Amino acid sequence: MFLTKEKGQIQVSELSLYFSCARKLYYSCRGYEPVSHSSFSYIGHLILKEMAMSYPYVLKDSSSKDDVTFEDLDNLLLQVLDNIKMIYPVEMEYVTAEILDKVADDLRTYFPGMQQGLSAHAKDTEILRLSETLCLHDSEPFLSSEKLNMIGMPYRLAENGVSLSPVIIKTGNPPENGVWLNDRLHITSFAMLAEDMNGRPVNSGYVLYARSGLFRNVIIRSTDRRYVLQAIGRVRKIKEGKMPDKKESALCDTCIYSEMCHVKPSLISKFF
Ligand code: SF4
Repeated sequence: MFLTKEKGQIQVSELSLYFSCARKLYYSCRGYEPVSHSSFSYIGHLILKEMAMSYPYVLKDSSSKDDVTFEDLDNLLLQVLDNIKMIYPVEMEYVTAEILDKVADDLRTYFPGMQQGLSAHAKDTEILRLSETLCLHDSEPFLSSEKLNMIGMPYRLAENGVSLSPVIIKTGNPPENGVWLNDRLHITSFAMLAEDMNGRPVNSGYVLYARSGLFRNVIIRSTDRRYVLQAIGRVRKIKEGKMPDKKESALCDTCIYSEMCHVKPSLISKFF
């Protein structure tokens, strides 16, 4: 589903980019895309995301005594490779079979970690119950809040009778424990949307880390809700044209905007 926006409306994906780096959002919403979307890492990200969407089915079908095998994951990967061009025809337009083979070989190096994560979950009743719930729906739910003037689509909104839990997929490495701060804020944004739509509190959610096959539970905290509300106001200002200060971080080393970001602000307008 495509998200149509009203004036001043923001998407949760824009908030997520802001959590990563406010400057990135500034460049992105002005349409500056210095690297082709069909880069090797972007294709890998899309394939991993598609694979992760099927993890709940892998878990649902596995017996608690069985480990998830290399073969299970390879079958899943081959199935995704078969469909990927139909799901992302624009992004895949110039991607050759050789490139897809290389990306697939690279993804196979994550299989031991995925097997370990999914095999542990196959013996975890809470995650098995969650997987069964996730398998009941086959599309991303559209969430919208007039009060926040915000829209977004998480991977799923799991319902266990009394409570709702947004679930998102991330394709980067997970932290040793818990979830990254940005991922927690991302989940909190969806929780606030879901609450406003459904009129009941959302107290937790899950991040599914595709590379390691791990579901991580997130408790929604008041401090994160407050931060999300502040961030919504800041994102609106950035979209209206306010350039945020540059914040040096480890992300800058691999950032696609780094060349532009190192130019003095007065010169940046010349790029647009
Ligand atoms: S170079 Fe650093 S500060 Fe600039 S956009 Fe990238 S991550 Fe943000």
